Amino acid sequence: MKNITLIGGGLSGSLMAIFLAKRGFNVSIYERRPDPRKATTYQGKSINLALSNRGIAALKKVGLDEAVLKTAIPMSGRMMHNKQGELAYQPYGKEGQAINSVSRGGLNIRLLELADEHENISLHFGQRCLDLNADCSDAIFEDEQGNKTNVKSDIFIGSDGAFAASRLHLQLSQRFDYEQDFENYGYKELHIPPTASGEFAMDKNSLHIWPRGNFMMIALPNIDGSFTCTLFFPYEGEISFASIKDEPAAKAFFQEYFADVITLMPNYLHDYLNNPVGSLVTVKCFPWVYKNSLALIGDAAHAIVPFYGQGMNCSFEDCIVLDECIEKGGDDWVRIFENYQSLRKPNADAIAHLAQQNFVEMRDKVGDAAFLHRKHVEHDLVEHFGSMFKSQYELVTFSLEPYSFALAQGKINDIVLNEIISRNIPVTPGNKEIEEILLRNR
Ligand SMILES: Cc1cc2nc3c(=O)[nH]c(=O)nc-3n(C[C@H](O)[C@H](O)[C@H](O)COP(=O)(O)OP(=O)(O)OC[C@H]3O[C@@H](n4cnc5c(N)ncnc54)[C@H](O)[C@@H]3O)c2cc1C
Repeated sequence: MKNITLIGGGLSGSLMAIFLAKRGFNVSIYERRPDPRKATTYQGKSINLALSNRGIAALKKVGLDEAVLKTAIPMSGRMMHNKQGELAYQPYGKEGQAINSVSRGGLNIRLLELADEHENISLHFGQRCLDLNADCSDAIFEDEQGNKTNVKSDIFIGSDGAFAASRLHLQLSQRFDYEQDFENYGYKELHIPPTASGEFAMDKNSLHIWPRGNFMMIALPNIDGSFTCTLFFPYEGEISFASIKDEPAAKAFFQEYFADVITLMPNYLHDYLNNPVGSLVTVKCFPWVYKNSLALIGDAAHAIVPFYGQGMNCSFEDCIVLDECIEKGGDDWVRIFENYQSLRKPNADAIAHLAQQNFVEMRDKVGDAAFLHRKHVEHDLVEHFGSMFKSQYELVTFSLEPYSFALAQGKINDIVLNEIISRNIPVTPGNKEIEEILLRNR
C-alpha cells in the first residue's frame, strides 16, 4: 500500500488522514505546531467556527458528526444590533435549519484523537515543512530545535493552510497561476464572558452582528456560556486599527459604536489593545496537483475570507471529493488528482467570490431597511414556494449542491426578487403571479 504524507494536521489534514486510513493507506501527518491535545491553549486562529451541512456531511462519513454536534451551539439566524442597541432578527433558513458554532480547537483535537485510533496513521508534531523537492517525492521538515529531516513519500497532500509551504515549489514552477488578495481589513477577537449566574449574556442561538457600514463586529456563542466577538476593521483610515490605538481612543470608539455590548465585555479595552490583528486573504491557484505526487486541499488550495462561514466546510468537502475520486480511480493517481481538481476548482472559485460579496452584505447592508425587506420577501418565498425557490444562502449552507450552482442560482434569484419587489406582489401561499415569475425564471 502507498505511503501518503499530509503536510499540516489542522482541520482538513486530520480529516483527510482519516479518510485515507480507512482506505488502508499508510498515512503520516506532519504538523508544525505542538500536539494540541497536550497544550493548555489552542494556538490556531479564530476560536469558534460555523459548521454547516457540507462540513457535517464530511464528519458523518467518519462517524464524528453526532459527537461534534453534541458540543455545538445551533444558530438559527442573524441578530442585528444597531447603534441604538435595537435588535432585528433574520432566520437563516426554514424552521429547524441552523448553522452550528463549534470550537476550532475542540474539533481539531477530536479529529486528531480519531486519527490516532488508526494504527496506520502516524502523527508528528512540531515539524515544520520547509519545502518539497522538484518532483514532490520528498519533503524537508524542521523541528523546534532546528533539526532537519527528509521525509520520502509516494504521495504528499498539502493541507498546511493559506500560506502553505507544500505549495512553494509549485509557485516557482512554470505555468502555475497564483493570486493572493489581502483585504484592507484585519480582524481582532474580543470576549463576552457568561453572566454572573453563568448564563449567556445574549441570545445564544443567534449569530450576532453589529453592522456599522465600513466595519462590523460579529459574535458566536461558545459552549461555556461565553461569546467570541470578532471585530472586522480597516487597517488604515479615519476609523481604523491605525487611528484607534490607545485607551482613550478605543474607549470613545466602543462607546460610540458598540454601546450596547461593552457593558457585557468587562475586558474589551484590554482585548482590543492587546489581542493580535489577523489578516484576511483570498488565495487562488492552479493547478492544485502535481502529477501523481502532490495534491493541495483546504486553505492551501483555496483560502477564502470568512464571511460566508464556509472555509472549513469547503475544505471538508474537498476531503469527501478526493476520497470519492480515490474510490473511482483505482491506482491511477494522475487521474485521481486530475478528477479531484476539476471537480473542486470551479466550486472553490465560486465560494471565494460569494464570501467576498457577503462581507459587503454583512457590514453594510444588513442594517439597511430596503435590504431587510428584500430578505423578508426572500424568506417568504422559501417558506411558501420552497419547492420552486431556494435562496442562495440555503443552497450554500444547508445543501450539498455545488457552490457554482449556488452562485448561478443567486443571480436568477436576484431577477425574481427585483420583479416581485418592484411590482409589490405579496408573497402569499399559492399566489399565481409569483408562481408565474418563478416558472419564467427557472
Ligand atoms: C476569522 C476566521 C473565521 C473563520 N470562520 C469560519 C467559519 O465560521 N466557518 C468555516 O467553515 N470556516 C471559517 N474560517 C475558515 C477556516 O478557518 C479555514 O478554511 C480552515 O481552517 C481550513 O482548514 P485547513 O486545514 O485547510 O487549514 P488550517 O486550519 O489553516 O490548518 C493548516 C494546518 O497546517 C499547519 N501548518 C502550516 N504551515 C505548516 C508547515 N509549513 N508545515 C507543517 N504544518 C504547517 C498549521 O499549523 C495548521 O495546523 C474562518 C477563518 C478565519 C480566519
